[in-house]
Amino acid sequence: MSSSPDTSGHSASPAVRFFSGENIPLEMHKVRVVQKLSLPPIEERLSAIRRAGFNTFLLKTRDVYLDMLTDSGTNAMSDVQMGAMMQADDAYAGSQSFERMQAAIEEVFGKRLVLPVHQGRAAENVIFRSYVKAGDLVPMNYHFTTTLAHLELNGAKIAELLHDEALQVKSTNPFKGNMDIAKLRHAIASHGVQNVPLIRMEASTNLIGGQPFSIANLREVAQVAKEAGILLLLDASLIGENAWFIKQREPEFQQASIASILHEMCALADIVYFSSRKVSSSRGGAICTNRPEVFDKLKVLVPLFEGFLTYGGMSVREIEAMAVGLRETTDDTIISQSPSFIRYLVERLEALGIPVVTPAGGLGCHVDAGGFLPHIPQAEYPAGALAAAFYLISGVRGMERGTLSSTRDSYGNDILADAELLRLALPRRVFTLSQVKYVEDRLHWLYTQRELVGGLRFVEEPSVLRFFMGRLEALSDWPEKLMQAFKRAFGDSL
Ligand SMILES: *Cc1c(COP(=O)(O)O)cnc(C)c1O
Repeated sequence: MSSSPDTSGHSASPAVRFFSGENIPLEMHKVRVVQKLSLPPIEERLSAIRRAGFNTFLLKTRDVYLDMLTDSGTNAMSDVQMGAMMQADDAYAGSQSFERMQAAIEEVFGKRLVLPVHQGRAAENVIFRSYVKAGDLVPMNYHFTTTLAHLELNGAKIAELLHDEALQVKSTNPFKGNMDIAKLRHAIASHGVQNVPLIRMEASTNLIGGQPFSIANLREVAQVAKEAGILLLLDASLIGENAWFIKQREPEFQQASIASILHEMCALADIVYFSSRKVSSSRGGAICTNRPEVFDKLKVLVPLFEGFLTYGGMSVREIEAMAVGLRETTDDTIISQSPSFIRYLVERLEALGIPVVTPAGGLGCHVDAGGFLPHIPQAEYPAGALAAAFYLISGVRGMERGTLSSTRDSYGNDILADAELLRLALPRRVFTLSQVKYVEDRLHWLYTQRELVGGLRFVEEPSVLRFFMGRLEALSDWPEKLMQAFKRAFGDSL
């Protein structure tokens, strides 16, 4: 069985220069299976976003034209992955599919002890339950929503140790995801090393705009962890893109293969975990390590929460797709597709004066809702308002990544997010360039009408991860006004 993609001849950068001088990312794939889309008229979109409580998570895809909510489980599958799924070995225990997944993880990440889990947050549950106790501190470059929720569930606190300028929207810093080593040393010393069980580094730091860290920085973090006897935990959910940025931006690795960069990154960490929904277009996830004592400690919880040690809640087809998807992560032309489309969109929007996070990162284009809608205070959720307004005028579904995705303090006040972002995810090899240009065009128009957009307030607010299921309402009749402006501008165009 051939489960490994043809990666020969991919050592050179896939960039093709155009005679016109234009900087157009070229697709190195062709479309063979398609899904029909529709774009409902704006009146229907207004009813749909109302029904969804102004929360794009609660929209139905039949009401959505381009689904840019997330890259989670939405990257396109390759023909090789689909082929492998047909050859899965269905067994409760001892499945050959699991052996193939284990082999792929060892090949790509260099870790031979593997625990399967049903998705990324399940890995967090298993790891934090095993290693974290109440009162502990877990330093990290930056949190992810599910990571923070699981750590809080175990009574721990986090320290986010990015460099101060990493949260500036506009920047030329190639590695905004780097950890500030002086802050790390200080956090460990002041909290007491015995209360710091783990240091967590997240590849392509999701919530600050898919921003990478450098290997030089990871080496320093690993050195501190080693000196202090603390385990270094790598969240590898978006590791492929981080490796791609290292190759592009870290001079030492210009000539290195993505495969060797991935090895170098993982070798520095004691425990690597990932959501396969992101990294390999499949479902599921895994925890991997080369330390037997870590493996033995973690494995106890897998049958309890996930499933037997050879499937961990995943179907064997997903396991096969993961194995192939992980190997495909080492292919430049595959891993660079999403970042190059994102860069294209970010550069176009920047040229139009629309505030976006720079440099362009992984995962999606991040529009700075704070800069887009400066008249909306953070307590009225500007990023949520922008997500709702953009859906209304385009049928494109993005995701709020701002105060709405945050929580409240013990006095019931919103903990204001460091940045108010509308994330427009560009899952790998899913959208065409004309669709990206449509996004650019509609965002451009919305920017000219930005004063029409108003704020939101909660009408139903869950106490945990409220952004998933919470419902809101508009603080005025701004959605109707925006619809009327759209109809004046575009007539009977959808
Ligand atoms: C998505 C994600 C997770 C959680 O993974 P799920 O599969 O959604 O549970 C954890 N960390 C990062 C960085 C992620 O992007």
